[in-house]
Amino acid sequence: MNKNEIIDFLSQLPLPAAHFNPSGEVVYLNNAFTKLLGYTKADIPTVEAHWSVFFPDVAYREKVQKDWVTMLEKSAKSGVPIQPMFLDIVAKNGEVKKLEVHSLQMGTLAITMWIDFTEKMKAEEERRIAAIAFDSEAGILITDSDGVIIRVNKAFTRLTGYSSEDALGQTPAMLKSGRQDKAFYQRMWSLLLEKGFWHGELWNKRKNGSIYAELLTITAVVSPDGRAKNYVATFSDISQSKAAEAEIHRLAYYDALTQLPNRRLLQERLGQALISTNRSELYGALLFIDLDKFKMLNDTRGHDVGDMLLQQVAERLVSCIRESDTAARLGGDEFVVMLQGLNANQIEAVAQAEVAGEKILATLNQPYLLAGYEHHSTPSIGVTLFSGNLSSSEELLKQADIAMYQSKTDGRNTLRFFDPEMQTIVTKNP
Ligand code: GH3
Ligand code: MG
Repeated sequence: MNKNEIIDFLSQLPLPAAHFNPSGEVVYLNNAFTKLLGYTKADIPTVEAHWSVFFPDVAYREKVQKDWVTMLEKSAKSGVPIQPMFLDIVAKNGEVKKLEVHSLQMGTLAITMWIDFTEKMKAEEERRIAAIAFDSEAGILITDSDGVIIRVNKAFTRLTGYSSEDALGQTPAMLKSGRQDKAFYQRMWSLLLEKGFWHGELWNKRKNGSIYAELLTITAVVSPDGRAKNYVATFSDISQSKAAEAEIHRLAYYDALTQLPNRRLLQERLGQALISTNRSELYGALLFIDLDKFKMLNDTRGHDVGDMLLQQVAERLVSCIRESDTAARLGGDEFVVMLQGLNANQIEAVAQAEVAGEKILATLNQPYLLAGYEHHSTPSIGVTLFSGNLSSSEELLKQADIAMYQSKTDGRNTLRFFDPEMQTIVTKNP
């Protein structure tokens, strides 16, 4: 073939191709080449020029040049034809093309052809990413547009206990725990339909019936006509972090020895009670309870036995009050009972608080069994009433404490009101 025959041949060729002469000048680049890479002969006049045009990255260029020289030497030595190379070549618009480069040497004629694998590689890469994602730690569930499950991954099976045979053909309703109501799912769907996306926490049920908390993301895969083709749900089990959250809450708001609410929770509830009594105009009461001569028990029978008494006192306090009331341990041998929903009439409310206080006094006077020994303990109780937000919770606690101190000075094992007027009411109506 002479030069013109080659040019004629290459111009018909659908593959990108180039022809250059022995002195390294590019003689011809066909249309398919320019279409693929955007370059014309003006951009690449010589073989030498193509290096920096195709491979602007110096390190990559040097590697390719080295491989190329090695291959030429090998080919010259053993007589095998030059092998195709697989290279990343930068097109004129900056796009990186994945090309297989075939170099043909026919006597003094040199032709190069490029086969484009860019799309194929991209698809391959996407398939690979999808496969890795599908193998991820997160559970994945894919449904069709009707919400019928068409695929689940291994993590789905690990997290829910359902195999893919169990799940395919079902709907995600198979995981429902019953802990969210209909309105929850309706909101989820309306957001999904509107935004194509939902993210949140919910409770689901495993095959074995156990319930777990999951963090769920649902994404709608929308087809070009705008309709959802599939829904992809990815989720992870957050039961453990939920349990940790609950444990942190318990540590922050409850007393470790008696499991009663601690001072912080009492203050929160008292704050809320002040708001609600303000609205309802009903009275509430705070009873400050301190055990008498508790140190003596600690000193004679040991701290552990002291702890037992505190635990039993806590149980008895809980048994004395209604569910809407609160029994808390402030620390040491100090407890507080908060009563809510007493009468709106002050005299009535004082009487109700007194009845509750006397009941607590009598209950705590009952003998205790501590490590095999009977023990007798008494409390001193101080009471203050509250209605509306006239006083702060700190102030009310102080008032009840002062009243408690009064019952200590009055001989212990008794009940005193903070307000002298209230104390008079109680004393006058035995
Ligand atoms: P009073 O009649 O005046 O109340 O005398 P008391 O001996 O009960 O004295 P006070 O109420 O001031 O002391 C409470 C004691 O409770 C002090 C402390 O040694 C003890 N204490 C504090 N926390 C704990 C606890 O967690 N366990 C036990 N066993 N004892 C505690
Ligand atoms: Mg005490």
